[in-house]
Amino acid sequence: MKITFPRLGTVHVGLKSVLEDLGHEVVVPPRITEETVNLGAKHAPETACFPLKINLGSFLEVFREHPDVDMIVMAGGVGPCRFGYYFRTEQDILTDLGYGHVNWVVMEPPRGNLRQSLDSLGALNDGCSTWQVAAALRLGWRKLVAMDDILKTVHRVRAHETQRGAASRIFRAAVTQMENADSLQEVDQIARQTLRRLQNICREDDGDTVRVAIVGEIYVSMEPGANLHIEEALGYLGAEIHRTIMVTDWAKENILLDFLRWDSRGKDHKEAAKPYLNHFVGGEGQASVGSTVLLADAVDGVVHLMPFTCMPEIVAQSVMPQVSKDYDVPVLTLVFDEHTGRAGVLTRLEAFVDLLRRRRRKKGQRSIG
Ligand code: SF4
Repeated sequence: MKITFPRLGTVHVGLKSVLEDLGHEVVVPPRITEETVNLGAKHAPETACFPLKINLGSFLEVFREHPDVDMIVMAGGVGPCRFGYYFRTEQDILTDLGYGHVNWVVMEPPRGNLRQSLDSLGALNDGCSTWQVAAALRLGWRKLVAMDDILKTVHRVRAHETQRGAASRIFRAAVTQMENADSLQEVDQIARQTLRRLQNICREDDGDTVRVAIVGEIYVSMEPGANLHIEEALGYLGAEIHRTIMVTDWAKENILLDFLRWDSRGKDHKEAAKPYLNHFVGGEGQASVGSTVLLADAVDGVVHLMPFTCMPEIVAQSVMPQVSKDYDVPVLTLVFDEHTGRAGVLTRLEAFVDLLRRRRRKKGQRSIG
């Protein structure tokens, strides 16, 4: 099979590895650009979720170069938000556009259903033994863990890099190397070397660094092409970042613990969010509120990201002013869709970081006095 899948942050590094090891030819969608967004927006319903439009544009870019792709693998979902409709909507639109030949494999949340999970995996297995499948999953997972470790370090060191763009260059090189790694040893070696290189580009902290947490909807939080590369922008403004959703954390909670039907998943966030939002509203809405409460003392400010019309994050946004007031932590909510301009986002980020820096200096003066 010739397979593609939605592009989301560094997910392709692990997923490509697994699918290739299972015997498939894999087409990784190109990086998300303005063109991708416009292409998706042109063919999707106007009120569809922004991530759906990006996925659609991304698939169309793949088909433009590789019309012989015959399978799409993507995640499914269950309510209460619209994620569960992505598959049907995208399938209908692509069929109308002439790509009705494509087979879709939708990985639904396991919810303790072993049969369903094995069936999905079985549809992707091209005659490999159980041992080979396990080895493929292990290597893919190790790559994702390594990329998360590297990315967390990038989020920290970018604020201190001696040469602007150095951390991003090292990161991009690591992505390419990791994509080509074919053993666990190689993955570990690339991770070690990359982390060392990142440490070597740091200058001493001048005391003016601010710490910013990023919370919000998973797609715009994890995909730089969807959030107009705001992590890079914040780093260049001298902000260390703590992003609350990383690929492997999400996978552990939503695949592994979901499969085990372990009720304690996300328990801390739920507890923390309870006074403001005491039930699940879909997506990451409750987690956005809970994370803001939990991180309020550890960061100088919180950037809350959401796609336009995202129901769970609209609910979260409505209680954020109260959380911000109660915990004395500034929160900046940024909304993304195909009309969002980078210049406007950068201006708001500059003003926000400036505010955080002033507050920090003021607090420092107070504690000295
Ligand atoms: S979380 Fe928001 S953007 Fe994502 S599918 Fe649900 S409603 Fe749409």
